[in-house]
Amino acid sequence: MAAKDLSELDGLSAAELFAGADGLAYDDFLILPGHIDFHHQEVDLSTRVSRNIALKLPFVSSPMDTVTEHKMAIRLACLGGLGVIHYNNSIEEQAEEVRKVKRFENGFITDPVVLGPQATVADVDRIKARYGFSGIPVTEDGKPRGKVIGILTNRDIEFEPDRHRPVHEVMTRELVTGPAGLSLSDANDLLRRSKKGKLPLVDDAGRLVSLVSRRDLLKNRDYPDAVKDERKQLRVGAAVSTRDEDRERVTALVEGGVDLIVVDAAQGDSIYELRVLEWIKATHPQVDVMAGNVVTRAQCRRLIDAGADGLRIGMGPGSICTTQGTMAVGRAQATAVWSCSRVAAERGIPLLADGGISQIGHIGKALALGGSAVMMGYMFAGTEEAPGEYFYDNGVRVKRYRGMASLEAMEAGGDKRYETRADDRKVKVAQGVSGSVLDKGPLDDYVPYLIQGLRQSLQDMGVRSLAALHEARIDGQLRFERRSLAAQVEGGVHGLHSYQESALGMRRKGHR
Ligand code: GDP
Ligand code: 5GP
Repeated sequence: MAAKDLSELDGLSAAELFAGADGLAYDDFLILPGHIDFHHQEVDLSTRVSRNIALKLPFVSSPMDTVTEHKMAIRLACLGGLGVIHYNNSIEEQAEEVRKVKRFENGFITDPVVLGPQATVADVDRIKARYGFSGIPVTEDGKPRGKVIGILTNRDIEFEPDRHRPVHEVMTRELVTGPAGLSLSDANDLLRRSKKGKLPLVDDAGRLVSLVSRRDLLKNRDYPDAVKDERKQLRVGAAVSTRDEDRERVTALVEGGVDLIVVDAAQGDSIYELRVLEWIKATHPQVDVMAGNVVTRAQCRRLIDAGADGLRIGMGPGSICTTQGTMAVGRAQATAVWSCSRVAAERGIPLLADGGISQIGHIGKALALGGSAVMMGYMFAGTEEAPGEYFYDNGVRVKRYRGMASLEAMEAGGDKRYETRADDRKVKVAQGVSGSVLDKGPLDDYVPYLIQGLRQSLQDMGVRSLAALHEARIDGQLRFERRSLAAQVEGGVHGLHSYQESALGMRRKGHR
């Protein structure tokens, strides 16, 4: 953005916008357009989520049991963001989720479905119907780590009239295999030369270690933005509570290779959080710690002084959240992000705007107000990678999405974020609800839609990068305007007799 005399500009600086007494939500204001002299593809969305963790995209998924387990964290990190594994589970389970992300190597199927020689063609049909693939290694004992004696491919069984035939009679026996430990690019070469669709990798005794599929190698080229550590493993975050007993959890997560610990408390400005924060920084100084949730400047300062490497901002704006109604405490999210961003910018600590994002424009606004990244539950719930199965509600395909302080999640152990200590757990005051959200498809389709929308949003503001966006806000060049209720109505669809909109505002690949 070219420097201009501020008095010549329309609208308000961020400081002027928030000078009034009211708390503002994202929908209460708009950002005025800037000048475009670049293509939206050029917009750089790279950022930091904490002092030492850089991301290619400002997207982080919430630590909620209907949002982030290893599948979400893997795919989001592949695409350039970060997933934070929830802790509504045992220490071992959470640490295993972290290990699954750290172990993941895109392209290697490390737990392939296998069959034994006596299984039948009908078994292959069932696997194909359930999982969608039919390239299945056959092992001597039918176990995943057994000795490989053949492989089944679609071509072996396509025209087989007798579906009761055992697979050893129809499988391909002339196998091309690779040695365990082969690098992905060498596996790629071998697959290319062999012209096969699958490459089993085996150890010295011929036992199956992993499987590589041609389809995945082609896909692998599509993740140049994967967020990785120095050892080239995907990065992952994990949440813990402020309770003393969770120190053991922190240690197990660190041993599992976690990159970011998120100390998760609905009201993060407590002696409990300060103590755990100081303890983690003293015990595991190599791991970044995100502290929160907070919404005022004084709270931010206390957490930064205790060692926070990132701040998580938001109290009550979440889509599933009833905190503000129940507790009388919280803050409108746009005001919270703006207010805290001043401390974060002053101290050089990244700020995560958490909750209340239900459309792409909210992401652009959260970042414009000083967020380094946004944390989203609602936006990622309902994707294929979110935990849980799809079901139909009145003919609409949906997935469950619930607040971690909904009665349902608390009964399953999710109340640790809300300072309910052992003795008062008999009485539960919910601060969230449980419900369902629309099917949003795979992240591979959904995240590119978010990226393109966000790039176009920054392009309309006239800024080429998140760094430039923050600079423009700080020097007052980025201009804002309050919008009246009538202006909000005007800015939405109105006056039509009827209209169609894709429920997600996106066109899926292959769907018209
Ligand atoms: P196939 O030729 O019918 O086996 O299917 P493709 O190789 O074209 O695609 C299989 C897809 O399913 C790939 O993206 C695999 O990564 C994925 N997949 C996940 N688990 C497994 C598994 O256990 N076995 C196989 N064959 N594929 C798997
Ligand atoms: P969303 O993206 O759905 O608007 O908000 C997600 C955020 O809401 C989470 O990252 C977390 O900070 C917060 N959250 C999750 N569960 C609950 C809950 O039950 N109650 C409240 N108050 N906040 C929740």
